[in-house]
Amino acid sequence: MHPQLTRIITQGEILVDEPLSQHTTYGIGGAADIFVRPASRQELAGLLQYAARKNLPVTVLGSGSNCLVNDSGIRGLVISLAGTMKELRIQNGTVVAAAGVTLGHLVRRCLEAGLTGTEKLVGIPGTLGGALVMNAGAFGEQISTHLVQVRVLNFHGEEKVYDRQDIQFGYRSSTFRPDEIITEATFQFETGAPQKIAQLLKQVSGARKLSQPLNERSAGSVFKNPSSDISAGMLIEQAGLKGTIRGGAEISPEHGNFFINRRQATAQEMAFLIKMAARTVKQHFGIQLELEIRTLGFEPGFWEEAGLA
Ligand SMILES: Cc1cc2nc3c(=O)[nH]c(=O)nc-3n(C[C@H](O)[C@H](O)[C@H](O)COP(=O)(O)OP(=O)(O)OC[C@H]3O[C@@H](n4cnc5c(N)ncnc54)[C@H](O)[C@@H]3O)c2cc1C
Repeated sequence: MHPQLTRIITQGEILVDEPLSQHTTYGIGGAADIFVRPASRQELAGLLQYAARKNLPVTVLGSGSNCLVNDSGIRGLVISLAGTMKELRIQNGTVVAAAGVTLGHLVRRCLEAGLTGTEKLVGIPGTLGGALVMNAGAFGEQISTHLVQVRVLNFHGEEKVYDRQDIQFGYRSSTFRPDEIITEATFQFETGAPQKIAQLLKQVSGARKLSQPLNERSAGSVFKNPSSDISAGMLIEQAGLKGTIRGGAEISPEHGNFFINRRQATAQEMAFLIKMAARTVKQHFGIQLELEIRTLGFEPGFWEEAGLA
């Protein structure tokens, strides 16, 4: 289909008509025309230059743990750094990690090096790239807290370096440009007492297991919490929606903000529940929910009828 690609991607992986259900934690999503995992920054830069020359649309994915991909899939090129670009080095509390490193690996390596600051992120799935874009976090700690610098490639394959203060981070949001791919990040952590670090890790893992359906296929919280004292999950629960089923999709009976692919759910079934929950919460409480998950491959305006941009 694109024979030149095999000259650019020599170490990485190229898959044609690849079902994105294999690359999202929901296990939902139609095929990507071309799915590529570049093995290095050089391969990624070459790939982006090629896509720009050929006018191929580019979509970026990490582990797909915060994404709902439509059943019709994604046209053009889908680039994922999950399972690739995983180098990580630590020196004197400075951690330099490639964007394909998983948060779990980052937490583990910091623990081994006796560094404190990532403990509360334990259990959040996904890559560092996805975590930075989402400003992933839990229990009051965010991935951006100890960030020093980020390297990106724009969609023309040109490199740019951002200092922490160049990027604004909010609640599950950041100002990274949609036409840039994060390739590497640098963090600075303090040394901590090993016992304290291990204890906090245990506490956080325990709290997660108690409150979240971790054995089900989900993308974590679907909606952002409207405020620090009103949770989306509680509103959905109080609206009586926990356990609601549409085809193979279900609002978790355990956690109102976790929507689950119970039995080969389609994106349309999941989207039906998401819109229904947003509309019902608006009717009952006058509160407009906002999506936390990213939606890919839906027509413009698809989410607007439920007030979801
Ligand atoms: C069971 C479960 C629990 C979860 N708990 C939490 C939680 O406690 N806190 C929390 O914040 N999140 C949570 N999440 C959501 C999710 O894990 C995080 O948002 C995670 O950081 C997403 O990383 P990812 O690699 O999967 O990104 P993806 O879902 O693949 O992508 C997310 C966004 O980032 C973009 N992106 C990905 N990689 C790059 C890159 N290299 N450069 C540029 N853009 C990129 C994508 O285009 C997309 O817009 C949970 C998810 C699950 C399934």
